[in-house]
Amino acid sequence: MSYSAWYQCVRGCEGRYSLFDVIYRCPNCSGLLEVVHDAAALAERPGVEWRALFDSRGRAATGAAASGVWSKAEWVLPHVAPEHIVTLGEGFTPLVTAPRLAHDLGLTDLWVKQCGISHTGSFKDLGMTVLVSAVAQMMADGNSPVRAVACASTGDTSAAMAAYAAVAGIPAIVFLPRGKISTAQLIQPLANGAHVLALDTDFDGCMRVVREVTRDISIYLANSMNSLRVEGQKTVGIEIVQQLGWQVPDWIILPSGNLGNISALAKGLALAHQLGVIDRLPRLAAAQAERANPLYRAYQTGFQRFEPVTAGVTAASAIRIGDPVSYEKAVRALQAFDGVVEQADEDELAHAAALADRAGLYACPHTGVALAVAGKLARRGVIRTGQRVVVISTAHGLKFTGFKTAYHEDSLPDVAALHSNRPVEMAPDTGAVKAELERWMEKRLAS
Ligand SMILES: *Cc1c(COP(=O)(O)O)cnc(C)c1O
Ligand SMILES: [Zn+2]
Repeated sequence: MSYSAWYQCVRGCEGRYSLFDVIYRCPNCSGLLEVVHDAAALAERPGVEWRALFDSRGRAATGAAASGVWSKAEWVLPHVAPEHIVTLGEGFTPLVTAPRLAHDLGLTDLWVKQCGISHTGSFKDLGMTVLVSAVAQMMADGNSPVRAVACASTGDTSAAMAAYAAVAGIPAIVFLPRGKISTAQLIQPLANGAHVLALDTDFDGCMRVVREVTRDISIYLANSMNSLRVEGQKTVGIEIVQQLGWQVPDWIILPSGNLGNISALAKGLALAHQLGVIDRLPRLAAAQAERANPLYRAYQTGFQRFEPVTAGVTAASAIRIGDPVSYEKAVRALQAFDGVVEQADEDELAHAAALADRAGLYACPHTGVALAVAGKLARRGVIRTGQRVVVISTAHGLKFTGFKTAYHEDSLPDVAALHSNRPVEMAPDTGAVKAELERWMEKRLAS
């Protein structure tokens, strides 16, 4: 069977472009491009057979088959030769139930997709393996102008790009908003040898610079404006339904900033539905931080009006974006999936992350936003009793030690740290230790 895919304008202009061309926008209307697959070729295999095929590709020990993304290569990027695939075993992340957390949030059936359990600690690995593999193939072909990859980032895209580029030996250039990302996120691309430029601006300012710089076609743009990223990111929804035995949850909730991912999630699920692999669609909820909420504001107008905002300081720094590049795609995705947009403030996101941690998770602030939104939608009756909810945890809590530390020291601005937990500092005196344990046991039993 031969599968193929190409770029096409999301606004429906004519024209098809090769996925190995250096092109990010429609030459006619400058709308974003999207990857379109030859649906007729894919449809020759019935849904039950796709399910069986994907299930037969359990996690192998090495190579592309060990990747949750490349185990679905036909739906992702059919033209990359196996020797050019740059993989670090992304995908196949755990999907766990969280009954104690569900109870605390007022939900019946809650699952958390642990995408942070991945090589660079965020779900950006899913898209970056696809983009860097395509670049590796372009460079190997010999007549491509590309000499380096570049991105603007709120921390996770740059970590992923730097790592995958380092595996392939491709020079990497990173633009970060100075002082606005976590220490771990800053050190990741530095350690992987990327050229890091920390600019005195916010993410949206970095995005403007990288768009200018990548007008030079020798520097390949690795932001999600580049639709190759979306093709990898879209596997998260497919993997979720596969892990649920191809049963579709009622809701999937995703923390959202630049909005490439809410569109990617929808794209993967829509393809699965179109090919008969799933029999219905879940509803989607895009979860925004209140201080970076342009999509939420547009949603309040029924998507009649969109205005970029200047994103304020939020613990959810990876979604601190005021002018999302993929706004149009996100609106289409939400409309097709009967979607909603909800927001969480600093106190709500920190509280939800703390509840998650008390239930054994280790939630990053963005996951806190999505969990807080899940609770709010349940309280409002939008999510109904008995419905199954999957929250996508987008990054590992270990990248956000500063946030965790500040929470437990009760020093986060605008947050009442109800679950702050401090070490008891005391002398190594057995009597005093026993007395302390006695006091603690009584307190725990009383609560
Ligand atoms: C990138 C990212 C998101 C949001 O994805 P967008 O495509 O920017 O909307 C959410 N959480 C984390 C941790 C991220 O790195
Ligand atoms: Zn167009």
